[in-house]
Amino acid sequence: MPVCKHCGAKWSWSDTLKRSWTFRRGMRCRNCKKKQYQTRSSRKKTSLIAGLIPVVLIPAASLFDLAPGSILGLGMVLGILCIGVMPFFFELTSKEEPLW
Ligand SMILES: [Zn+2]
Repeated sequence: MPVCKHCGAKWSWSDTLKRSWTFRRGMRCRNCKKKQYQTRSSRKKTSLIAGLIPVVLIPAASLFDLAPGSILGLGMVLGILCIGVMPFFFELTSKEEPLW
């Protein structure tokens, strides 16, 4: 779980998840109310995880000859799984870093 670089408070899984939706403009720490940003390396990790969905989905669909409904269902399950593990890959910084 990420730790606030300003006050050292550990963010909970649900807090990180909620704040991650707004992380482009920084996320406010619940403890010290200072803005925190996702680090560039952590951003790469989380986008890599999201990118894994089609990598798993497309071969699985052709391999098991899945119906469109099943592909959609599997995609949703994978999406939820990805969102669930994302907070574990979050790292925070007090300074905003350029996107790339
Ligand atoms: Zn803090």
